[in-house]
Amino acid sequence: MDRNIETFIGCDSSYEDAKIVIFGAPFDSTTSFRPGARFGSSAIRHESFGIETYSPYQDKDLTDYNVFDKGDLELCFGSSEKALKDIEDCASEILKDNKMPLLIGGEHLVTLGSVRAVAKKYPDLHIIHFDAHADLRDDYLGANLSHACVIRRCHDILGDGRIHQFCIRSGEKAEFEFAKKHTDMHKFNFNGLAELVDLFEKNSAPIPVYLTIDLDCLDPSAFPGTGTPEAGGVTFMELLGAIEKVSNLKIVGADINELAPMLDTTGVSTAMACKVLRELLLALLK
Ligand code: MN
Ligand code: MN
Repeated sequence: MDRNIETFIGCDSSYEDAKIVIFGAPFDSTTSFRPGARFGSSAIRHESFGIETYSPYQDKDLTDYNVFDKGDLELCFGSSEKALKDIEDCASEILKDNKMPLLIGGEHLVTLGSVRAVAKKYPDLHIIHFDAHADLRDDYLGANLSHACVIRRCHDILGDGRIHQFCIRSGEKAEFEFAKKHTDMHKFNFNGLAELVDLFEKNSAPIPVYLTIDLDCLDPSAFPGTGTPEAGGVTFMELLGAIEKVSNLKIVGADINELAPMLDTTGVSTAMACKVLRELLLALLK
């Protein structure tokens, strides 16, 4: 007999054999509008049994690869710093064992924990960021640890020119001004991504990249189950194309975040998140 344990579909490898390690961060304490992302990671795992392990897009099957799913961390809801420390420690352990951490949120702030760990191992790290929101506020209502500030906090670590943002269509004017000086921001869609990937591929040494996907980059008609839906987003096929392009780079860590499953009682948003995660995993498993 086997233990009663729920993993993302097709991701039941042993830790030792795995190249990619999934872990969940059920945290949404800084969500600025509609909470619920804390239920994202467990919903993705549970509903993943509604999709296939095989991808007709990439002609690959998750059961042919080794992915370990650690499950969810038990995180402190009252202290963002404490939660981030636990996420960082988990990502560090995975990196120490020469595996790729793949974090499932949770709200977008959880990315910071993972990026702290990955940037320690890869000081020349770049971030590729898909999101409706700039997430570049220096603080949100006085808190500098907030999902509205997460990319700004990543900029504190990495500095100028190392953050590449796509699909951005919402933020304060000050965030867009900040982006002009300090990040490589592409508004509304994935225009410029192919050129960026080409540029990185021409570099003599592979550039380490962390990929963070805030699922609200998708249009709310296809993905309404999120805390701050923003009209004018990309389609699943556009996101899939972007993931496939980015996967040609040296990805050393990744996450998907901001699914709030209870905000879409049809379950379509969760099914979308499952499919995005399957395609992301298969794209990363070269
Ligand atoms: Mn975000
Ligand atoms: Mn967002």
